[in-house]
Amino acid sequence: MLPFKLIYDHRYDLNLGDHVFPSQKYRLVYERLLHGGIAKIGDFLSPQPASDEDVLRVHTPEYVRKLKTGSLSYAEVLQLEVPYSQELIEACWLAAGGSILAGQRALQDGWSANIGGGFHHACPDHGEGFCVLHDVAIAIRRLQHDKAIEQAMVIDTDVHHGNGTATIFANDQTVFTLSIHQLHNYPFVKPPSTVDINLPDGVGDEDYLAILDEHLRKALSDFSPQIIFYVAGADPYREDQLGGLALTMQGLARRDALVMDYARKNKCPLVITLAGGYARRVEDTVAIHVGTIVAARDAAEKRAAIT
Ligand SMILES: [Zn+2]
Repeated sequence: MLPFKLIYDHRYDLNLGDHVFPSQKYRLVYERLLHGGIAKIGDFLSPQPASDEDVLRVHTPEYVRKLKTGSLSYAEVLQLEVPYSQELIEACWLAAGGSILAGQRALQDGWSANIGGGFHHACPDHGEGFCVLHDVAIAIRRLQHDKAIEQAMVIDTDVHHGNGTATIFANDQTVFTLSIHQLHNYPFVKPPSTVDINLPDGVGDEDYLAILDEHLRKALSDFSPQIIFYVAGADPYREDQLGGLALTMQGLARRDALVMDYARKNKCPLVITLAGGYARRVEDTVAIHVGTIVAARDAAEKRAAIT
């Protein structure tokens, strides 16, 4: 058994076929964790969908109405870059509920992972770039509403800038947002996060890890979150079709260990969400996501050994 819970539902898989967004990855990560002997069936919890009240703490009533009634314009669906369906809406509400549950479990157990979510491009009044609802923001707002936390940090290592996160938490002193991403990549307008680390094309393991380490150290000395949401994109990988950085599998494993180590040393609960991953071979994306869960297991065991 793992020392924390994994949040997952089979309905996360949208069966999009050969779409560049491999929604089957959620199921593949689940199967790999289970069949690879990393997790047992009892480690998984199935989420409830987020309530509309939860969603409306982040998104506008007009946008939520359009999503629920299927009345997005053609341009709005194009901007989402995933086909609209009732299954899509169900999966998005579930993923948001999954990040809420992961947040609640992390406060209890120190760690948790949503085997989905990380939809960091979703904005209050529209979705874009495969992101419909901002599950992480919805979870943070719910935990704040419940007075379970006051302050949160989002550490976003997806290769793409977290524009939705930056927009939602602009001018909010209670949420510190850090995004490390490739500068010359989507989204082309990058509203400011608390800290933006704009990387040139082709950055590899050693430079990436040194820069991330330096910024994490500073961020966690400037701000004391009661929970960290880790948007653990698999797309800084050198074989990614939508990314232009050059991290190796080993580099990504070290990235995960670095983030986990900062959470552990600061005794701060951490929630993993998967976010992007578009490797030429979907097995690589799955292996990177599984590696993030293994890094959390290792960090949890280290923390338990000390305390
Ligand atoms: Zn991405």
